[in-house]
Parts: sequence; C-alpha cells; structure tokens
Amino acid sequence: MIAGVGNDELFDRARAVIPGGVDSPVRAYGSVGGTPRFLVEASGPYVTDAEGRRYVDLVASWGPALLGHAHPEVVAAVLAAARRGLSFGAPTPAEAELVEEIVRRVPAVQKARLVSTGTEATMTAIRLARGATGRDLLVKFAGHYHGHSDGLLAAAGSGLATYALPGSAGVPEAVAAQTLVVPYNDRDALAAVFAAHPGRIAAVITEAAAANMGVVAPASGFTTFLADLCRAEGALLISDEVLTGFRAAAGGYAEVLAEAGEAVTPDLVTFGKVIGGGLPVAAVGGRADIMDLLAPVGPVYQAGTLSGNPVAVAAGLATLRHADDDAYARLAAAADAVAAATGAALDAAGVPHVLQRAGTLFSVFFGEAVVGGVPDYGTAQRQDSAAYGRFFHAMLDAGVSLPPSAFEAWFVTAAHDDEVIGRIAAALPAAARAAAG
Ligand code: PMP
Repeated sequence: MIAGVGNDELFDRARAVIPGGVDSPVRAYGSVGGTPRFLVEASGPYVTDAEGRRYVDLVASWGPALLGHAHPEVVAAVLAAARRGLSFGAPTPAEAELVEEIVRRVPAVQKARLVSTGTEATMTAIRLARGATGRDLLVKFAGHYHGHSDGLLAAAGSGLATYALPGSAGVPEAVAAQTLVVPYNDRDALAAVFAAHPGRIAAVITEAAAANMGVVAPASGFTTFLADLCRAEGALLISDEVLTGFRAAAGGYAEVLAEAGEAVTPDLVTFGKVIGGGLPVAAVGGRADIMDLLAPVGPVYQAGTLSGNPVAVAAGLATLRHADDDAYARLAAAADAVAAATGAALDAAGVPHVLQRAGTLFSVFFGEAVVGGVPDYGTAQRQDSAAYGRFFHAMLDAGVSLPPSAFEAWFVTAAHDDEVIGRIAAALPAAARAAAG
C-alpha cells in the first residue's frame, strides 16, 4: 500500500471536499457500484492503484493513451518542453507543427485552432457554424456526447447515459430550445427535422462514429446522406472526432469511412484526447474560409490563456509522431484479440451480447434486447447494465480495469502486447460466468 492509505479512505477524504469524490462523473463507479480505484502510477498497458495493485488498463485515460501510458519518448518531450518554460502566453513554434500534422492526416482540415478540451472545441465549432450561416438552430443525435457546454447536454451520452440523465439542470430553456435532437442512423428523422425548420439550422454535429453510448458506428451510407442533406440545406456538418480522431485509424474515423467508399468532407472537425497524448490539447479545424472567421481575423470570438500550451503541445506532437503504421497495426491487433477473446468467453458462458466496432474502437453490449445490434440510443438504453456491472467487477478482481459504465468504449493501446492480452483472456471466462448471473 502506497503511503499506507487505501482506496476506501482516499475516497472518503475526496468525497468530503470534492462532489462525489471525483473531478469528472464517469470516474465514479456510479452505475457499477463500489469504490473507484485511486491511481498513483501508469506505465504502458498498466495502471497501479494506491494499494499497490496493478491492473491491465482498458480505459487508457478515456482515449489519450494511444501509445500506452507514460511512453518514454512522450515523457522525454514533456520534460524537455517543461525545462524551456511552462507557458508563455505568446505563439510558439510547435503549435503550427502540431496543426500541420493534423492537416496532413485529415483531408477535411485546412486550418485548425488549438484549445485545451474537447468541450471547448465543439463549443467553438458551433459558434463558428452560427457565425458562418447566420442561423441559430443546432441538430445533434441522441446518445452522442460532445462535452458539457449548455447546448450539447440534451440526450447526451457518456456520464449522462451512465446515470440515465435526460440532460442537465442549469441549462436555460432558451438555450436548450436551440438544440434539436434526432435518433442516430435515422434518415427519415433527419430529413423531417430539416423540413420542420427550413433555413434555420446552422449545423448538424455528429460523433464521427458514436462511442459515448457504447460504440455505434454510422450505418453504411448514413454519413454521406447526412453530409449531402447538410449541403443541400445550407447547414454545416461538424464531425466530432475528439474520441475517434487518430485512434479509430491514423486519419480518424474519416479514414475508416473513406476506405469504405464514403469520402465525406465535413465543414468542421473537432479533436482532443490523442492530440494531447495525456495533456490538455484539443482542436477545432476545417475549411479555411470558415476557420478564418475566428478572431483576430474574423468576427467570431474565441480565446484561451493556456491554448496551445507548450508542454501539452509537446506531448501531443510526440504522441502523433510515434503513432506510426506500426503503432496502428499493434492497436488494431490488440483490439481484434481482445474483442475476439471477449466474444468467445461470453458465448461459452451463454451470455447474450453484441460486440460493436468502429475501426480500432469497440464495446460490448450485454442482454437479449440488444443481440440484434445497437443502431441508436433507444436500443443502447435497453442493454443489461447489471450484467455489465457483474462482468466489470469480476474483471477488476482479476486485475483488468474496464470502463466503469456499460455506455463507454473499451480502449486498448499500442502497448497491449501478447502477454497483456493473455492476462485479459485468462480473466474473461470467470467474468463471463459472473455476467451470466
Ligand atoms: N466529444 C467527444 C466525442 C468526446 O468523447 C468527448 C469526451 N469524452 C468530448 C467531446 C469532450 O471532451 P473533453 O472531456 O476534453 O471536454
């Protein structure tokens, strides 16, 4: 036990001064029950808690740890940048280098601006879309999560799905009324919302592949339909790749779509997670003419004291530079192996489930009600969260840390090698039997 203090005591202490003991709701074990593990160290595919227990990690900091935790080259880049200064409040050479790397990988992005969180990125994208179109209404899909800004919490995924919240208190009605929610993968509903509000919709925002209600990829042709409809109606398409960017594939989910013959060009794209490599970097990018609406060039205002922070940008650049073909091959192999082993164990234990993929992302939905597949949030909500909770705890007891919610993606890293996958495979049969009840 590190410092002689266990998870329970740390949780009690935290709860006394931090709401729920956590600084982000998804970290609490609210839906699976129990005490969250207080982590003190992470390396490669492993995390270690305050009691000195090491777990194979399938959370990866909810996505950023693409190369594995504390990759030596990323840590070296961070230390070197920190020695040169923590923050300048002035432009630095590395910011353009990071944006050049994004532009190189994502054809839809001609220019981008760096911010610190995915929430800021989507918030700015929406302001840009409104500024560009002179329209107010925004369309989002049920079960998609785009951060915690006021207009985006209606029928949102992630923690709101975990805790079955329809939205958030504290959002003014007038703001909520600007957001129209439609079911994902539903062409008719999308066409109907445009028909009901002609000339008034500024943008549709979509996760490039939904991964905050479990993983729900767009149905074949759906994203093309969405892009065509937006263009025809004069609305912008915002593709949120905060989670999928540089993870689902080297060029994000846009690359997965292009390989499937759907070369969709969104007007704006948002990024986060991997581009900070574990430190706070996110970005909004897209068509140069729209991006140039941002101050100081244009009339749409956006700013940030720590935007493009040199230490964070160094972590992101080092991460993307080491995220080469070999790293993506290892990531894909790990995803394939973990998904296959999980499916086999659940089949052997007779647990009804469906495993859904989006590039190297995947998640497992439990329960008879979902075995036909999960195309939307309504179906995702019918999964058997209690079975997932039993599965989660059995895996945790066996030393494998899964996301503490049935509504999240499972994250592998390029450091999940054969030995690690063997450990996961060894834990699966008992966990599958626990899920069976
Ligand atoms: N968009 C998506 C698709 C996300 O998954 C997230 C975070 N999970 C966000 C936006 C918000 O990012 P952040 O937590 O950095 O504000």
